[in-house]
Amino acid sequence: RARRVAVIGAGIAGLACARTLAQAGHEVWVFDKGRQVGGRMACRDTPFGGFDHGVQYFTVRDERFARVLKLNPGLCKPWRANAVRVLDPLGRVAEVARHRPEAHWVPVPGMNALPRAWAEPLAAQGRIAQGVRVVGIEAADAGDARWRLKLEGGEMPAEASAGFDQVLLALPSAQASELLRASGLAADFVERIEAVRVAPCWTLMVAFPHAQSAGQLGPQWNAATSTHHRIAWLSRESSKPGRDPVERWTVQASASWSTEHLEDDAQRVAAKLLKGFAEVTGIRAEPTHAQVHRWRYAKTHVPLGQSFLLDAEHGLGVCGDWCLGHRVEDAFVSGLELALAAL
Ligand code: FAD
Repeated sequence: RARRVAVIGAGIAGLACARTLAQAGHEVWVFDKGRQVGGRMACRDTPFGGFDHGVQYFTVRDERFARVLKLNPGLCKPWRANAVRVLDPLGRVAEVARHRPEAHWVPVPGMNALPRAWAEPLAAQGRIAQGVRVVGIEAADAGDARWRLKLEGGEMPAEASAGFDQVLLALPSAQASELLRASGLAADFVERIEAVRVAPCWTLMVAFPHAQSAGQLGPQWNAATSTHHRIAWLSRESSKPGRDPVERWTVQASASWSTEHLEDDAQRVAAKLLKGFAEVTGIRAEPTHAQVHRWRYAKTHVPLGQSFLLDAEHGLGVCGDWCLGHRVEDAFVSGLELALAAL
């Protein structure tokens, strides 16, 4: 019979997992605490245009990922980022990638267009609950379902109130272990997950609507990694395909600086990152818009080393980018392979 499956988390891993199970004929429900699907594959809308303030671009090395992307032609486009530069701490170009870099893909018109497209079939059936946090997983006490979820911020839809045969977690590692711990489940999974290491990332978004043309204010390049002690990455949002032309930059702090300043006040972080941005790019004009976002779980340093965890007997599984690495593609592969194993 078709199984009723709960997927917790609607990032790329959760959506890859959910769509695979739904396509195989199972009844899949997705729960996410965010207001939008996509998790870290996110977009921030402002009056000056959108910012991809999480994922910057993604690569496609896995054949299965390439095949799935081809199902939505034109949704993702290559971003010609004039070869990513490596900058010294003063913003001078220390190195330009010599070999032809692999394609950098971005969804159009914003980063979350891809997760939104993948979520659409389930959303049309009312099977995606947004703004709903799962705070507990309990053994069901009646009927043939195995699990029930405890929710915060929303009610369980009536059609799913009988419970689930399988519960699959597609959360950042710290949140997956927290939920399993709080539910008193899978101590062996928790131990493995807690060995995973993920660094945070403070991100600055700035807009200069008065600039006459791209490059008028500063560098002629569109994306760079930097060795400045605060700044690790910069990209010109307006250079991505299908974006608003207003001059906008997304700037990521380094993992070490983000860790050191994780609990700092946002205004103070914005001022420090803006100073670093000016030092690296030479853009000293005051931005019309400046905002920071703190990602507590950004980049995996120590992954799990296998694509998912599954207790097939009890119908409990875990996936996420951190199982394999720190890229969108790792999240996709992890979610897909968990679904195939859970089938
Ligand atoms: P997530 O996208 O984090 O999804 C997890 C979901 O779980 C979220 O939607 C969250 O709301 C939800 N959730 C959490 N707890 C609960 C709960 N209790 N109940 C319900 N829902 C819950 N990758 C690249 O390939 N290229 C890049 O350039 C790149 N740049 C990045 C830059 C930054 C700043 C960050 C933060 C990440 C970047 N990444 C990049 C990594 C990429 O974002 C991840 O690899 C990928 O998006 C992870 O997907 P995921 O589904 O595993 O997790």
